Amino acid sequence: MSDCLFCKIVAKEIPAEIVYETGRALAFRDVNPQAPTHVLVVPKAHHADAAALARADDGLADEVLKAAHEVAVREGVTEGGYRIVFNTGAGAGQTVFHVHAHVLGGRALTWPPG
Ligand code: AMP
Repeated sequence: MSDCLFCKIVAKEIPAEIVYETGRALAFRDVNPQAPTHVLVVPKAHHADAAALARADDGLADEVLKAAHEVAVREGVTEGGYRIVFNTGAGAGQTVFHVHAHVLGGRALTWPPG
C-alpha cells in the first residue's frame, strides 16, 4: 500500500533500525520505545490488523510469531520475561494499520496493561 508507513519501511523507503528479517517478516526497533527492548515485527505483505493476518491463513501469522520469539532470543529477554502484543483496532490503541507485533522486554512488565 503506497500510503502505509510500515510498507514504506519494508520497502526501505523510510529508514528503520532493522534487527531481524525472514522471507516474509521484518523486525525493527520502535521509534518511541516503551521498554529497553521494544521491537516491532511486521509481515512484509500488507494486512491491516491481527484479524486480517489470521484470515490470510497462509502460514504468515506463524512466521510473524516465530520471528517475534526469535527477536526476544536475540535481544536476550527470554529469561526475564517478555511480552508480544498486537494492538488490534483503534479502541485498543492501534495507530498504524499494518499489523505489527510489539516485542517488549528488558524491564518488569506490569499486568494488566492500561
Ligand atoms: P500501535 O499503536 O500498536 O499501532 O503501534 C504503532 C507503533 O509504531 C508505536 O509504538 C510507534 O512508536 C511506532 N512507530 C511509528 N512510526 C514509526 C517508525 N517510523 N519507525 C518505528 N516505529 C514507529
